[in-house]
Amino acid sequence: MKLQLALLVFGLTLALGQIVPRRSWCPAPLSPRLPRLSVPVRLIVIHHTATASCSNPHQCQSVLRQIRADHLRRKFRDIGYNFLIGGDGRIYEGLGFGIRGEHAPNYNSQSIGIAFIGNFQNGLPPSQMLQAARTIIQIAVQRRQVLPNYALVGHCQTKATACPGKHLLDELRKWPRWQPKP
Ligand SMILES: [Zn+2]
Repeated sequence: MKLQLALLVFGLTLALGQIVPRRSWCPAPLSPRLPRLSVPVRLIVIHHTATASCSNPHQCQSVLRQIRADHLRRKFRDIGYNFLIGGDGRIYEGLGFGIRGEHAPNYNSQSIGIAFIGNFQNGLPPSQMLQAARTIIQIAVQRRQVLPNYALVGHCQTKATACPGKHLLDELRKWPRWQPKP
């Protein structure tokens, strides 16, 4: 029992260590006035950023800053996503947990938004990105930010958009908690 607990704590620490903190890519701290998300939520919405892809931390950090700047121009409060997956296979903190995103109108207060950096209309993300997405979902469940029986959907299932790209959506359909409707 003690060993199991030790392994669990170890596994959790490893998993948490995989989230790259926001301060690594964004000099501006989150405003304390951002609306909170009441957790656990029942929905995970998957996006692609429809930007350039990135393949190393330096590039990914730069793309993250561009995405945030674009969202601010569009009058979002901050970057719209809770987490982003880099082409380097790392999980980047956007808004993080507990903050209501601006990524899926009508569903923002019931969901966490996870975005794959790049455009997946014409191809699938590399396997390390898919693995990173599964990891952040697992962390979200472990930290009780989403319900264990959450529904996983692509953005295009909540409104008319190409996001997260045809190939990525086809992949998500095979995941255990994917649902045809949000
Ligand atoms: Zn989207």
